[in-house]
Amino acid sequence: MMVCQFGGSSVADASQIKKVKAILDSDKERTIVVVSAPGKRFSGDEKVTDMLLSCAALAQNEKALEEKFEEVKDRYRDIAEGLGLGRDVIDGELEAVLEKMKMGAGRDYAASRGEHLNAILISKYLGWNYIETEDTIVIGENNKIESESYTNLASVIEKGKKYVIPGFYGRSPSGEVRCFSRGGSDITGAIAARAVMADVYENWTDVSGVYSSDPRYVKSAHVIPMLSYKMVRELSEVGASVFHEEAIAPVVEVNIPINIRNTNSPEDDGTIIGKEPEEKGVVGVSAKGGLSKIYVRKLMFFKESGVRHKVLSLMHLYGIKPCYTLYGCDSISWYFETKQIENIDTEEMCLRIKKEFSLDEIELKKGFAVVGLVGKGIEETMEYVDALDELRKNKIVPSSISLGGSYTTFVIGVPEDRKLDAVNCISERLFISK
Ligand code: ASP
Repeated sequence: MMVCQFGGSSVADASQIKKVKAILDSDKERTIVVVSAPGKRFSGDEKVTDMLLSCAALAQNEKALEEKFEEVKDRYRDIAEGLGLGRDVIDGELEAVLEKMKMGAGRDYAASRGEHLNAILISKYLGWNYIETEDTIVIGENNKIESESYTNLASVIEKGKKYVIPGFYGRSPSGEVRCFSRGGSDITGAIAARAVMADVYENWTDVSGVYSSDPRYVKSAHVIPMLSYKMVRELSEVGASVFHEEAIAPVVEVNIPINIRNTNSPEDDGTIIGKEPEEKGVVGVSAKGGLSKIYVRKLMFFKESGVRHKVLSLMHLYGIKPCYTLYGCDSISWYFETKQIENIDTEEMCLRIKKEFSLDEIELKKGFAVVGLVGKGIEETMEYVDALDELRKNKIVPSSISLGGSYTTFVIGVPEDRKLDAVNCISERLFISK
């Protein structure tokens, strides 16, 4: 049995939903489908979830929301008409949503209706059963998936029947509609896959898999056929937008592979996540910019136990949460996202840290990126030597290098304005001219 999740662009309009039907019809193992709200049909288009969030904001500010909601109605009516269901087939549901929003039903309720209404339409079109996630999926604080979600879902699914499930929302333990974070239909798909112990979780999107680098900027980018769960986590950590990171946990614990596929090119095999590639070597090169670095130094300071933790705690008070740490003998550097210091007086912060710990030196610099090389056994293949050689040839001076603790990633700090050059030249060297 397969669970198939279709993202926003795959269900953005009637012609896309017809592709979904063709994909589902082509394999009888595809019996459970999780759908997003209609996403963008073209660049510059508005996602239905964003329209609904605008309606919720209007309602909250006691402004009329009917005009904006009319746009939402049009999106669904166009879909209904295009699928041959009749333009007014979900008018009753649309009116009910509008009334509840006018009565102040709130942000999560509004956001969730995008998936809710789309799943109703798609279930009518396919003639499949609809499962309400408000009755089955329980979302605790901080997006925690409560374990009863799996048993609840499993208990309403009968063998031999076919189901449509709305993604992205469930209910809180006290019973109100609650959404996952944006893009959260991936998580619902993973929950459904685990609930039925699917053979595969197919995640259908608008790209043919996980790319070795961002294909928009990197000529040598290509689809990676196989990736372990760990590699996916590491790739997202260095800036690749692969798959909703919280959607890994439900399937990793029970070893269900995820197959990333392209609705617009279903003949492509896509990427299988959850299987270790056979060969050792770098499979992906990605970069994350928008980083700053704080450097602190004091003679013999770090010999004192717990002192690192104390400096970090003080930085936390200012909202800094480092993502990479580099140790020296009497010094430490931490990389963190520059947006964390957007609204703080960094001079005051540095002076305070310096004074509180009587540091010899403290320095804060903006404008960094990190480039990550992700792969199996890269400490043995030593391709990072080639990567560094390529940076030298291109006069890109690293601000740090680290093999990391995971044996899966080699991370190189580079100036932000050379981030793309770095990814391009490293990819070219490792994947093309090898
Ligand atoms: N519709 C939601 C969003 O736009 C969830 C999703 O598409 O997965 O974020």
